[in-house]
Amino acid sequence: MSDASKSDDRIRVAVMGAAGRMGTTVCRAVLDAPDMELVAVVDPPHVDEPLDDFGVAGTGLTLEMVGPSIKKADPQVAVDFTNIDGVRANSRWCALNGVHAVIGTTGLTDGDLQDLSGLFDGERANAVVAPNFAIGAVLMMQFAAIAAPWFESAEIIELHHDNKLDAPSGTAMLTAQRMAETSADWVPDPTEKHVLQGARGGTGPGGIPIHSVRLRGLVAHQEVLLGTTGQSLSIRHDSYDRTSFMPGVLLAIREVAKRPGLTIGLDTLLGFGS
Ligand code: NAD
Repeated sequence: MSDASKSDDRIRVAVMGAAGRMGTTVCRAVLDAPDMELVAVVDPPHVDEPLDDFGVAGTGLTLEMVGPSIKKADPQVAVDFTNIDGVRANSRWCALNGVHAVIGTTGLTDGDLQDLSGLFDGERANAVVAPNFAIGAVLMMQFAAIAAPWFESAEIIELHHDNKLDAPSGTAMLTAQRMAETSADWVPDPTEKHVLQGARGGTGPGGIPIHSVRLRGLVAHQEVLLGTTGQSLSIRHDSYDRTSFMPGVLLAIREVAKRPGLTIGLDTLLGFGS
């Protein structure tokens, strides 16, 4: 692993997907954090273009491919908000080069998580993977898991902007998984006739239906609906702006070196779970 106190005590950070919507927001957050230094920016479709062109001014950094020049910048932590192919390649590079990874890219399969847990073995490097870096969303998942045993039906509606490539969201899947871990006792779906295929959504972990809405103007939103006799409970979280993810991303950058191996979700970083 890289030396944690190189030229000064600031954490040396590389951003993968730096020209993207999340990437530029992460670059600004890292630049604003007094304990961090932005040392490299990666975005293959935009190689040799200055970061300034993407609304992050004054760094003097140019977008690059992942490889020797990034290694030379000697990042301690790389933050990945790219796409599924990008994150697979970038995380392998990080692990092999002793760079801790903070991964926000969604769409990872169980197989991908298994691969990551082999790559980030705590010897060479660690990784934190979170499908949702908004601290309110982590609390929503916690609350939903606490509520689950007290209700007989549950459905999840996740709503995102119209450029999102994967459905359902990683947050919706993780929410259903957390709820399925605390309750297996759900009433069966009564639907016998599907007038429109898919009208009841996809079937998530524990058989909990998940509905994905894609709408221009939205950012990231989710509602967990729970029902039992005579009452229902709605737990809703809204990210109105990409800055909502930044406190969680900065927390993960600060913590990843201290968490051996692969950490999934922000829960343990926030003091929940084991
Ligand atoms: P985006 O399309 O705006 O940005 C992705 C960027 O990655 C682009 O600039 C693209 O050129 C770049 N890229 C592609 N391949 C790459 C590679 N191999 N290496 C480096 N860069 C590469 O997308 P976005 O809206 O910023 O979202 C990025 C990802 O983050 C998506 O998977 C999205 O679902 C996820 N996301 C996660 C959270 C969270 O809290 N975990 C929040 C928002 C978005």
